[in-house]
Amino acid sequence: MAAHMQSFGLVGGPSPQVIDPAEGERRLRGRQAGINAVLAYGNGRSYGDSCLNGLGTLIDMRSRSQIIDFDPQSGLLKAEAGAMLSDIIALVGPQGFFPPVVPGTRFITLGGAIANDVHGKNHHRRGTFGGHVESLTLLRSDGVYYRCSPTQNVELFRATIGGLGLTGLILSAEVRMMKVASTDVDERVSRFRDLAEYFDIAQAADDENEYAVAWIDQLASGRSAGRGLLIAGNHATGREPVKGRGLPFRPLVPFRPPFSVIGRPFLRLFNGAYYWRKGASPDPHRASADTFFFPLDGVSHWNRLYGPRGLFQHQSVIPTEAARTAVAELLRVARDAGEGSFLTVLKRFGEMTSPGLLSFPRPGYTLTLDFPNRGEKTLSLLRELDHVTMAAGGAVNPYKDARMSAKVFAASFPGWQQLEARRDPAFVSDFWRRTAMRLPTSTSPVLMAG
Ligand SMILES: Cc1cc2nc3c(=O)[nH]c(=O)nc-3n(C[C@H](O)[C@H](O)[C@H](O)COP(=O)(O)OP(=O)(O)OC[C@H]3O[C@@H](n4cnc5c(N)ncnc54)[C@H](O)[C@@H]3O)c2cc1C
Repeated sequence: MAAHMQSFGLVGGPSPQVIDPAEGERRLRGRQAGINAVLAYGNGRSYGDSCLNGLGTLIDMRSRSQIIDFDPQSGLLKAEAGAMLSDIIALVGPQGFFPPVVPGTRFITLGGAIANDVHGKNHHRRGTFGGHVESLTLLRSDGVYYRCSPTQNVELFRATIGGLGLTGLILSAEVRMMKVASTDVDERVSRFRDLAEYFDIAQAADDENEYAVAWIDQLASGRSAGRGLLIAGNHATGREPVKGRGLPFRPLVPFRPPFSVIGRPFLRLFNGAYYWRKGASPDPHRASADTFFFPLDGVSHWNRLYGPRGLFQHQSVIPTEAARTAVAELLRVARDAGEGSFLTVLKRFGEMTSPGLLSFPRPGYTLTLDFPNRGEKTLSLLRELDHVTMAAGGAVNPYKDARMSAKVFAASFPGWQQLEARRDPAFVSDFWRRTAMRLPTSTSPVLMAG
């Protein structure tokens, strides 16, 4: 089995011990897993270290990838936890369905989508992925298979959605797909001059569109500070598919260059060009699902461009009433630190609540920034971003993060102890060791040691 599994940010230490699902199941069923021993690994698309277990063993779920059943009448899909979102889309798309929630990459597993309760560009309409899960089967280290749903083993169900993989091994799940006339999207791109203009139009864009997200030219300063593009759309109504399906050829970044290619001069050029080029035609046009939802999937291993030290992603959510000031402040802090973020995305989260205990989305605005890892300089910037987020009453996303402090985690998720209480004693991650287990009220024996 391949060793040295890593997260997408390439920052955390690799997890060298890896077993397959059959061996994982055998150990759990036989109650032989041990304390703080294992963690499921989906496809490693989390940027941070929540999918890593450097001191223990990873159960690589990718070989459990069968789609067991799909009912084109009801839209109910049943699949093993290692099933890839890309395969699910390939199956249900031609039958007039689409996953109700998709993140910015289709290369994630069903188990990973549930454990992180992922969100997409339509949070304002559909909430999070977990809201569409009808049931799941979970194997815990007591050797018992639990069927969990909104009516059965409810507490375990709620803890597993957004539970960061800590409640046990998800083996399979049933998820309700969304009926669509076409998987293509009628996309409309419009420019906004500054953040104030974005905040003026964001809610209306959500009201009118299934999907809406903003891209920010993060390095623009002065009067252009906060300018960007609002990218919105609805599923196309005609069945006629868009010409050129999007991303058939996937160039590959074959190796990690010795330094980050994503530097400030590159970003200045890229951002400026993107702003003027992409925003040049405000008329609606049809985009394939691949180009609308997953443009980054077009280049394999693009994270390698960040060089040997990898990248950090900082995703915050700021309550609505504080957002105008705090989002501007977050952008200013990043700019003043001399750091350019390749992908700066701003999105309004709606009011829909998730069934998950530790779900990240909450009403407000979420800002995502990517930075090459330049050591202490970057860490210091990230701490400052945390500080602005905390002062505004916001939260930092745990599965995008490979360095947030225990204190910031606890402030972001005051209910974390409820997850700790339902955590399977055999399951732990590098993230949990680094955060929850260092908090004074944790009951874990590792806390005392660490
Ligand atoms: C380009 C890109 C864009 C992205 N855009 C978004 C976005 O828009 N919105 C968003 O929410 N996220 C986004 N993400 C993050 C990504 O969607 C999530 O991190 C996702 O959960 C990764 O799934 P994975 O299958 O790779 O799981 P991993 O990253 O391998 O694991 C994620 C978590 O799931 C747990 N897990 C995995 N399988 C199981 C299982 N069978 N049983 C129990 N626990 C399990 C792991 O232990 C871990 O805690 C993006 C990532 C990338 C690379």
